Amino acid sequence: MLSPRVQCSCGGLLEVLHESKASGPSLRSRFDRRRVSDPVGQGSGVWRFRELLLPGRFDPVTHPEGNTPLYRRDPVARYTGLVDLALKHEGENPTGSFKDRGMTVAVTQAARAGATAVACASTGNTSASMAAYAAQAGLTALVFVPAGKVAAGKLAQALAYGARTLLVRGDFDRCLRLVREASEALGITLLNSINPWRLEGQKTIVLEVLQQRGWEPPDWIVVPAGNLGNTAAFAKALREARGLGIIRRMPRIASVQATGANPFYRSFRTGFRRRFRVKAETVATAIRIGDPASYDRAVRAIRETDGVVTAVSDRAILEAKAVVDAAGIGCEPASAASVAGLRHLVRRGVVKAGESAVAILTGHLLKDAETVMRFHASRGARRNPPVEIEPTVAAVERLLGRRR
Ligand SMILES: *Cc1c(COP(=O)(O)O)cnc(C)c1O
Repeated sequence: MLSPRVQCSCGGLLEVLHESKASGPSLRSRFDRRRVSDPVGQGSGVWRFRELLLPGRFDPVTHPEGNTPLYRRDPVARYTGLVDLALKHEGENPTGSFKDRGMTVAVTQAARAGATAVACASTGNTSASMAAYAAQAGLTALVFVPAGKVAAGKLAQALAYGARTLLVRGDFDRCLRLVREASEALGITLLNSINPWRLEGQKTIVLEVLQQRGWEPPDWIVVPAGNLGNTAAFAKALREARGLGIIRRMPRIASVQATGANPFYRSFRTGFRRRFRVKAETVATAIRIGDPASYDRAVRAIRETDGVVTAVSDRAILEAKAVVDAAGIGCEPASAASVAGLRHLVRRGVVKAGESAVAILTGHLLKDAETVMRFHASRGARRNPPVEIEPTVAAVERLLGRRR
């Protein structure tokens, strides 16, 4: 268990298997007690579920993270066509995305295994999160991002937290291949979601949703899908939760891709008979991935949850984002794919209007301020452009549409 190795020598991915002897009801009450007091987990919404993640005695490298809200907002629910919709805002984690949940576990395990340096390829949020947790653990951090394709807020975080940041002339998929080779050759611990401990942490998004709902699963969990780590982690969480008797019923997973980065959707449409790789392009840079690393385990995730995969246009993503933003919540473009995808699935009758859903918002509004400014400066519905005025009360009054 203490091997720093995170990939199999066969080239495949590794998976963590747990041997828990505890029963569902006893685990549930233990997790509920820790919501009130948990000195070991330090109040983390990840480490509260530690029996299901990384058993043993150790001090976690925690901020703490998790404990993100489940928002209910009528305008967003109406927009999707559902009555019972909750938004799980993972953008309210310490570095502004769900990546912190996987990172606290993977960095804790890397430190236990004696790592001195960690690395990742990233569309931005993984690098921001890894940089923060590596700084806390005193590890050297090496970040590989596609040059010119990372939102400024995310790049700024990696630099600020002190990661050595490499702008690679290539897309995310190229960055991931490079970091897999480099970490293997140079003995650096890889912290992409290939690393099985990342997925263990990301399971807690679902575990926390279940806990917040009094252990009553929704009908659907809807998630933006890029490298497919979350899709895989969610199904693993549900499989284990049902196996232990924490829940009785499996919710269905809906994975949502951007039309310009839709290899998983294409495969889904062939009944997963064919695997696709595409050249990815989308405004939702966090899911701008053409060759998802967790493809195989995500196929299993969709199969075993009777799930679906869909894809939505950049236009639909930006419109859904404007609705989430204007509700006073806000999220980054990739996050809004869940809301746009849910609306699409309700319209197609795949999700029924009477069903309940939790849509995951994966990242914070301020991660990608450029896209927000560009959207509101362009023409179309839901725009709210800034207005420049003379510094007089009369000018303000004119703007409010009043006359003296
Ligand atoms: C990483 C990320 C995703 C993609 O998640 P996968 O697990 O790679 O499918 C989606 N949204 C945001 C904001 C992200 O940072």
